[in-house]
Amino acid sequence: MTQQNAAPDVAAGRLSDEEYKKNFADLHPLLAPHEAMVEADRCYFCYDAPCTQACPTSIDIPQFIRQISTENPAGAAKTIFAENILGGMCARVCPTETLCEQVCVREEAEGKPVKIGQLQRYATDHFMETHETTPFTRKASTGKRIAVVGAGPAGLSCAHSLAVEGHDVDLFDARSKPGGLNEFGIAAYKSVDNFAAREVEFVLSIGGITLKTGKALGKDLNLADLRTQYDAVFLSIGLGGVNDLGLENEGKSGVLSAVDYISDLRQAEDLSALPVGKRIVVIGGGMTAVDIAVQSKLLGADDVTIAYRRGQGRMNASEYEQHLAQTNGVKIMSWVQPKAIAAENGHISAIELERTAEENGQLKGTGETVTLPADMIFKAVGQTLVSADLNGADSTVQIEKGRIVVDADRKTSLDDVWAGGDCVLGGEDLTVAAVEDGKIAAASIHRALSA
Ligand SMILES: Cc1cc2nc3c(=O)[nH]c(=O)nc-3n(C[C@H](O)[C@H](O)[C@H](O)COP(=O)(O)OP(=O)(O)OC[C@H]3O[C@@H](n4cnc5c(N)ncnc54)[C@H](O)[C@@H]3O)c2cc1C
Ligand code: SF4
Repeated sequence: MTQQNAAPDVAAGRLSDEEYKKNFADLHPLLAPHEAMVEADRCYFCYDAPCTQACPTSIDIPQFIRQISTENPAGAAKTIFAENILGGMCARVCPTETLCEQVCVREEAEGKPVKIGQLQRYATDHFMETHETTPFTRKASTGKRIAVVGAGPAGLSCAHSLAVEGHDVDLFDARSKPGGLNEFGIAAYKSVDNFAAREVEFVLSIGGITLKTGKALGKDLNLADLRTQYDAVFLSIGLGGVNDLGLENEGKSGVLSAVDYISDLRQAEDLSALPVGKRIVVIGGGMTAVDIAVQSKLLGADDVTIAYRRGQGRMNASEYEQHLAQTNGVKIMSWVQPKAIAAENGHISAIELERTAEENGQLKGTGETVTLPADMIFKAVGQTLVSADLNGADSTVQIEKGRIVVDADRKTSLDDVWAGGDCVLGGEDLTVAAVEDGKIAAASIHRALSA
């Protein structure tokens, strides 16, 4: 690869305060009451509603929309929270275009679904603004104690459902703040005004859940001890590692994990202090790739390219997400894979991409290459389970394909250990799927402890 001689251009404060504010404003602002009524009136209140069937948490969508249309947003919120206690975050982050809204009969008939996600947000925001606690009452104490490890969507959902049943939950997290990727991963413009933290408080308001941050399984805790100290354990530790590209110079300055950078961005008090490259190449094709590409653009990067190894139609990011990237000026380059990284004086300067093709279903390099100058390269090629965290004397759960194996009840190979969310095999890498896992596991734990 020919060397790129321009000095790396990585700088903070590329934009004015006004521009940062505008760029990171709420992607879908809250509907006004009259907008919500008009939208709710579009619903046909279908029998055997396809939207409910497509919702991983089975929210009774026609029911909550009817409640909005009869000016009962608090009732609508209760319908939502009954199935999904993180309904507020899911309203913001669910790819509704591939779930409930994709199958809405209005979408089929006229290509314009009922805005289910925005109506869900209308109801849940209304409730959280007007009530200090969840709408549920804790049952009498059962005296049973459960350890939930990981306070992301799966852990929070499981802890809440268990608390409602009267169990006592210790909710551990390795980080200093709870919320998991809701707090550290979701794109900043999808969750503004500290919503993730406010939602955690809302969930914990049920009582009976003791949050213990700064407690890492594999370091401060081990599974064998938890199994002796508690009546059941739920593992919801997500995916703490990231895949590498396996290229020379990957360790040089300028090559970053997209997930780590997004975490810094989400925690930044002042976005203008966050350095960003002028020319950025993102490797990957999922939601993380789109999120880092769009947010880099919004931080003031000039030239942002997502390099994806297959055709654009095969990207894991939905069409809506791809469109969002392109309307923000991100280029999507398909059928290319990273081949080499050039670096000068300890910092990367370019990436060489090899064109790819598919032959009998197998992806292969064609030998033809293209070089893009780059000040920063973001790796967004998947996350991995840090399985070492799970080792503890005789307490190792079964792992396959790098994920924890669970049955339909989210029970692991160990009798008293359940797991859910991103860390389990077959997980869908969606917030709403993690919430559902937590809910299913809690119901199963409750049955087991009540037997
Ligand atoms: C950048 C990015 C953007 C995304 N955007 C969307 C989106 O827009 N919409 C969507 O639906 N999904 C999105 N997802 C996916 C979604 O965030 C996840 O599917 C979801 O958060 C999984 O929830 P979880 O509870 O399983 O794991 P996590 O949210 O990862 O939570 C796991 C928790 O466990 C803790 N933990 C980890 N290891 C240990 C340990 N050893 N001991 C104790 N605690 C530990 C972590 O600190 C964390 O709090 C995105 C993911 C990423 C990475
Ligand atoms: S499919 Fe669409 S129209 Fe039918 S109940 Fe669901 S939101 Fe309403």
